[in-house]
Amino acid sequence: MAEKTLNGTVIVTYRCNARCTMCNRYKAPSRPEEELSIETIKKLPKMYFTNITGGEPFIRQDLKDIVRELYKKSDRIVISTNGFFTDRIIDLCEEFPNVGIRISIEGLQQTNDKIRGLENGYNRGYATLKKLVELKHPDVGFGMTVQDLNAPDLVPLYKISDELGMEFATASLHNSFYFVEAKNIIHDRPMVAKNFEDLVNELLRSNSPKKWFRAYFNHGLINYVYGQPRLLPCDMAFDTFFIDPYGDVMPCNGTKDKEVMGNLNEESWDELWNSDQAEKVRTKVRHCDRNCWMIGSVSPAMHKYIWKPGWWVLKHKVKALFTKRPYDMHELKVVRDYEEGRVTKEQLDACSTCDLCAKINDGLSEASKADAHVYETHEAM
Ligand code: SF4
Ligand code: SF4
Repeated sequence: MAEKTLNGTVIVTYRCNARCTMCNRYKAPSRPEEELSIETIKKLPKMYFTNITGGEPFIRQDLKDIVRELYKKSDRIVISTNGFFTDRIIDLCEEFPNVGIRISIEGLQQTNDKIRGLENGYNRGYATLKKLVELKHPDVGFGMTVQDLNAPDLVPLYKISDELGMEFATASLHNSFYFVEAKNIIHDRPMVAKNFEDLVNELLRSNSPKKWFRAYFNHGLINYVYGQPRLLPCDMAFDTFFIDPYGDVMPCNGTKDKEVMGNLNEESWDELWNSDQAEKVRTKVRHCDRNCWMIGSVSPAMHKYIWKPGWWVLKHKVKALFTKRPYDMHELKVVRDYEEGRVTKEQLDACSTCDLCAKINDGLSEASKADAHVYETHEAM
């Protein structure tokens, strides 16, 4: 295998100290003693990009050892966190000055704390961000999961991130085993889309090519919110993978049930990646109709099919020469169809992955399932 062709996401724990409204992972934590060991991390392949996530990754006291090991394999590492454990984050950044930190902030103070379910969560997350900026940490950003409740905060939060010179990553609601959730759905699509449209225009007006491509990603989020087929193919499990706390290697975190290509505690990487089971999962990916639009699956696709977002960016940058609002969400046919009554809300709801009757497979081991109720916040830390 050629070196560094892979993009990997390492879920170091399913434990979490937050109580988010759109994710029940905190109710289904992994057992600490079953979580990925350094020995298993050593078996991972070379990667050009690695995302470390959870649960809340900073719950793991040995996160620095994990990062140290991953730097032997990966040029770039970004950790997604809720930002609560300020001291642990700063301590890690002091040892690894190039590590990226993405702190999820779900809106301005009131909205964030309502969604996140962490008392003082906004202030803790924001304080961590500010501290990292003060320390001139080079790669810091916000992440926001846009939904009905926080959509009006989207542009104001983007502006805060811009003033602080930070990255601003967006997502919207998804349902999957990973989020232990099947009921997530956007109710007021035009309102949420309008806020995305405003953000897309802000991004297109900037002087940063990176932000222009983020504009395309947010255009894709409007398309996703309306339940439409992805703008780009999904190649998860071909050049991108997730590994969970049990060593299970999976294509992504968007499937309804956990799809396992193999277990890295039990096999070598090459055995696993080239196995019949891995091929079976790739076939499922080829036929997957969940149409997720999360940065983990879209960013590799944007690189691979660069001409598509590239052409979109070019078109809108030319428009930006003549108007302050080069982007209009009505360029998506479904937005026009909905507005003009050719498609109903019920039809769009049916296109989403929201399933009120779904039985959720949280992907936990039997041991973790048995004592899932035991781990309260203080024990998880
Ligand atoms: S969204 Fe993230 S921070 Fe919130 S409960 Fe889920 S894992 Fe925890
Ligand atoms: S669309 Fe892609 S990322 Fe989403 S569940 Fe299917 S394979 Fe996974």
